[in-house]
Amino acid sequence: MDSANIVIIGGGVVGCAIARAVSARWSDVFLLEALPKLAMGASSRNSGVIHSGLYYPPGSLKARHCVRGNRLTYEFCAAHNVSHRNTGKIVVASSHAEEQQLSALAETGRANGLEGLRLIDRDAIRAREPHVEGIQAIEVPSTGIVASEQLVKAYARVAADRGAHIVTHATVEKLEPVPSGIRVLSSAGEVEARCVVNSAGLFADEVAAMMGSKMARHRIYPVRGEYCEIVRSKQDWVRGLVYPLPHTDGLSLGTHLTKTLWGSVLVGPTARYVDDKNDYEHNREPVEYFAGLAKLLLPGIEVSDLTLAYSGIRAKLAPPPSSPPVSHGSVMTDFIIERDPEFPRVVQLMGIESPGLTSAPAIAEHVSELVAEILK
Ligand SMILES: Cc1cc2nc3c(=O)[nH]c(=O)nc-3n(C[C@H](O)[C@H](O)[C@H](O)COP(=O)(O)OP(=O)(O)OC[C@H]3O[C@@H](n4cnc5c(N)ncnc54)[C@H](O)[C@@H]3O)c2cc1C
Repeated sequence: MDSANIVIIGGGVVGCAIARAVSARWSDVFLLEALPKLAMGASSRNSGVIHSGLYYPPGSLKARHCVRGNRLTYEFCAAHNVSHRNTGKIVVASSHAEEQQLSALAETGRANGLEGLRLIDRDAIRAREPHVEGIQAIEVPSTGIVASEQLVKAYARVAADRGAHIVTHATVEKLEPVPSGIRVLSSAGEVEARCVVNSAGLFADEVAAMMGSKMARHRIYPVRGEYCEIVRSKQDWVRGLVYPLPHTDGLSLGTHLTKTLWGSVLVGPTARYVDDKNDYEHNREPVEYFAGLAKLLLPGIEVSDLTLAYSGIRAKLAPPPSSPPVSHGSVMTDFIIERDPEFPRVVQLMGIESPGLTSAPAIAEHVSELVAEILK
């Protein structure tokens, strides 16, 4: 049986960023990924936005890790030739009622340390995005876009260059606490680890349950986000990133327009609770639904201008609001990143939804500190 200092479960952006960080300090690092390739889950099925940290409650892990992760992601991409662009973005108010929400959002952003936020009027919106309708907007200069799959593979490449073992086709099936650590049984073999990091994304609750951890009570609810693409002849209708106000219940940032690095324009993602964590395609929303949402920002868009694109699934910690709704509670939750109180050699990461792609290098620093406590 192999022995390891650290076994990381999950080869998404979070696991790979952690592998990069810990392999700089420790030898015998293994990353186990169930699927045939890295980044086949949420880490390649997202908007590819390098978020600024505008939305999250000041002091929360989401706010802190997103703001730091924003800077670290730009630095990493520049140093490792990962395709990216610092485009900035606008968040648009479509009614006078929304203007107040916009100001409150700008206040949250400033409290989170964002620089250069600016409220602009309709003319300035039009100068920046000639086809977009809105009465006021916030300009957010630090937002950008990145090729997310390239980013994950670059984190993994650096980890492998530092000696980490990156193993695909390795589904972790059982975790057994033993006196000196945790025995990890996977479809690729067994390894005894002094420290285990659970970064299994949507399945982190199930991985926690494998060793009987009480942290499995943090159930993960899959929330699908679907995308459409604007036809090529109208791609120049959108120049950058255009967002509506976020859902007030915290479910998502709202269906936005994203100019990708390849020149296409995405409309999405939607947000809908689904029953199955692997259900990307069943009962997809029709293009008419996307046209309705997109018209809020882009009134000239027609159903015939849209084609269905891919979808991704968010790892939400909040259950769906009861149906019919009893109260309209918030489903905004923070990332959970902590040593398991019952199994202190295990670091659990749960609910790493957006802005997880951006936050990954800052999350990796945080996990690296927890690993240092375990291996000291
Ligand atoms: C629609 C959508 C849009 C988003 N847009 C953005 C955005 O623009 N910007 C941003 O910052 N964030 C965004 N996010 C969030 C971001 O994509 C996620 O937070 C991030 O990808 C989570 O990474 P992860 O490594 O935790 O999870 P994942 O990418 O899901 O990786 C987890 C991995 O664990 C593996 N695994 C699971 N169980 C096991 C097991 N038993 N054994 C071995 N391996 C296992 C899985 O196969 C998977 O590869 C978006 C998310 C979605 C869904």
